[in-house]
Amino acid sequence: MTVTPKYAQRANPDRLLHILCRDCGKNVIGELDQDYPGKEELKKAEMFKYGAKCLRCGYVARDNYNWYRHR
Ligand SMILES: [Zn+2]
Repeated sequence: MTVTPKYAQRANPDRLLHILCRDCGKNVIGELDQDYPGKEELKKAEMFKYGAKCLRCGYVARDNYNWYRHR
């Protein structure tokens, strides 16, 4: 099991993802803007269908092919 960092502990755990935040310049925990659709769906979804907000700085990432679920 992965430890959830403090900044992400208030978010909905079902929506947590690992994303690359361009503002923070590193991999962070982000929160998906809707319920997690499943790994395959998320990977093949068109860009801009999903957004994931960086829980450190608020940047919204749209490059969904780079994401994977936080567990
Ligand atoms: Zn960030």
